[in-house]
Amino acid sequence: ATPTALLVGTGRGAQLGILIKGPEVLESTRRVDTIVLDKTGTVTTGKMALLDVVTADGEHADDVLRIAGALEDSSEHPIAVAIAKGARERVGTLPEVETFTNIEGLGVQGVVDGHAVVVGRPRLLADWSLRLPAELDAALSAAEAKGRTAVAVGWDGVARGVLVVADAVKPTSAAAITQLRALGLTPIMLTGDNAAAARAIADQVGIETVIAEVLPQDKVDTIKRLQSEGKVVAMVGDGINDAAALAQADLGLAMGTGTDVAIEASDLTLVRGDLRAAADAIRLSRRTLRTIK
Ligand code: ADP
Ligand code: MG
Repeated sequence: ATPTALLVGTGRGAQLGILIKGPEVLESTRRVDTIVLDKTGTVTTGKMALLDVVTADGEHADDVLRIAGALEDSSEHPIAVAIAKGARERVGTLPEVETFTNIEGLGVQGVVDGHAVVVGRPRLLADWSLRLPAELDAALSAAEAKGRTAVAVGWDGVARGVLVVADAVKPTSAAAITQLRALGLTPIMLTGDNAAAARAIADQVGIETVIAEVLPQDKVDTIKRLQSEGKVVAMVGDGINDAAALAQADLGLAMGTGTDVAIEASDLTLVRGDLRAAADAIRLSRRTLRTIK
């Protein structure tokens, strides 16, 4: 291969908003047949907003917001940022957090105002022997059916409420999926979020296959499984939780709007965080390598 053509290719990439780690990356880009997409921050904006607070019978929404908001204020997860901001807008100053632990892919836990608090997926509350009453269970299912993310809040052994946050699909995601399909790629959504919310988002952008409720450490195994089936896999992601999968993929693409860890683990960076640049990258690599042969 003539290095000049490859270098021209990487230069053209930069003009398209695609940073390419090395000219050799173009070769793996060309062979890709499957593209795995993280949901939050990749297909969606990742900028969530607090939409709703549902309380268990006898609980007050402001208490749920104050305590959950205080705990989430220590986390950088998009869900946590939305909850802390929404809580502060509604109840004012949040109490101090005494201890805080992030449980990757499940939620957060800690001590606020002397209470042992947990916020996250119902599975995390179940791990702490907190049972969701019927009204909270119903609120969770209703929110998820609409593609929203709902997290449960509990403290001192009792489930107290559900917080509903929503994230918008990026305006360019559906067009990007259409372009990727036209290039012969099969899109797959991979997320730690619940299956119903993931399905609703996938439907909005035209993705048929959804792999949901995958813990961060298991995302890499999903990529390995696809590879063992003979697929040449590209992975697009933005989060710390995507880094191992991005490194394992035949081609890792990071959102330029994402975390440094994801960018470092990837072969390509889509500078503007626009998924259409993934299709541009594949088109560019095919064209560049055709010039060489
Ligand atoms: P994704 O793969 O979509 O980027 P994550 O793996 O980061 O999602 O999170 C998976 C799920 O874990 C979230 O949808 C949420 O239910 C729960 N979760 C993670 N972090 C938090 C948090 N800080 N507060 C509440 N829930 C959380
Ligand atoms: Mg993400």
